[in-house]
Amino acid sequence: MQPNPNPNPNPISARAALDRMTPYTPGKPIWEVQSEYGLDRIVKLASNENPLGPSPKALEAMRELLPELHRYPDDRARKLVGALSKHYRLPESHFIATNGGDEFIKLLSEAYLEKGDEVVLPSPTFSEYEFGAILMEAAIVKVPLREGFRYSVDDILEQVCERTKLVYLCSPNNPTGTYLPRTELTRLLDRLPRGVLLVIDAAYSHFASAADYTDGMDLIAAGYPVVVLHTFSKIYGLAGIRVGFAAASESIMEAILRVKEPFNVNALAQTAALAALGDKEHIEASRRLNEKGRRQLYEGLARLSIPYVESMSNFVLAEIGERAGVVYEELLKRGVIVRPGHGWGLDRWLRLSVGTEEENSFLLEQLYVISITKGILFKDM
Ligand SMILES: *Cc1c(COP(=O)(O)O)cnc(C)c1O
Repeated sequence: MQPNPNPNPNPISARAALDRMTPYTPGKPIWEVQSEYGLDRIVKLASNENPLGPSPKALEAMRELLPELHRYPDDRARKLVGALSKHYRLPESHFIATNGGDEFIKLLSEAYLEKGDEVVLPSPTFSEYEFGAILMEAAIVKVPLREGFRYSVDDILEQVCERTKLVYLCSPNNPTGTYLPRTELTRLLDRLPRGVLLVIDAAYSHFASAADYTDGMDLIAAGYPVVVLHTFSKIYGLAGIRVGFAAASESIMEAILRVKEPFNVNALAQTAALAALGDKEHIEASRRLNEKGRRQLYEGLARLSIPYVESMSNFVLAEIGERAGVVYEELLKRGVIVRPGHGWGLDRWLRLSVGTEEENSFLLEQLYVISITKGILFKDM
């Protein structure tokens, strides 16, 4: 065969919607910083992972399953769904397990959005909601958070119209750590018109210690048009194996099941999630470590005169100032990976995941050293 004389190796045009997509920017991986800066020790506080590691019960369950990996996984993750149903006291038909929470956002978008629909999002928030909307050619309406990154139900309601299909609410919100109190959440639900689905992303619910916080699971039983998203990537420490789940009434879930691939959650992920869900010790230890770590970061930041947002989550958003980009780079050189805020339009901010006591101390020490050597006085900025 003659070689193809056409110089363009891909004359096939992709969907126009793809031009509007920007790839997700994850936290910089440990190996990359190691090789770029020739460092051994890296402290990664960039992706809100569990600093205690995976649930030990999950590790054990996965080891036991290894000889069975020639078998396909259960297509509906029935054991996991059964345990979730008991745990949350909702029927099994209300749950779907997914390949991380991210997959659920995509499935939800595929099942419910089309051209002409509108999606209402807080801003700044998790970027995957926007991805799902763009993929399906739905329009995006952003509702800026108020002073101190607080939610305003009135601002959200103002943007809802007859074209609105989904309203996303990330509570606690990534990257701000702020949340919507229960009474405000029910006020929102009582005022949303029929035909609008409220999506509550509760990825960080376990870290929310405020008495008036709710992840919204009880609102499903109360019959509201709500879908609640959860993940095993955060408190359960299983980000690497990819598993999450969502809950909603059976009639809402029905459409989502139609777009799901049969074997979307791999067998190891199913067994790990099931074991982690029952690992109360690991969950409690993780929660306690995070509460202490959050306080440690607050105190350390205050000592450096760095303003921060009080967080109901496992990260703290810190206002570094005009030279946040420089501080981010300097932290990398010293082996500390955090998340810069510019992807959210927060150029003056860094998002710091809560680590172990030692990791938090290391981060705070490095911030101190940078402020001295680079002549950055945080409070002056
Ligand atoms: C981490 C996260 C998720 C889920 O992530 P997966 O790893 O895909 O399960 C969902 N929403 C928010 C806001 C998150 O931060």
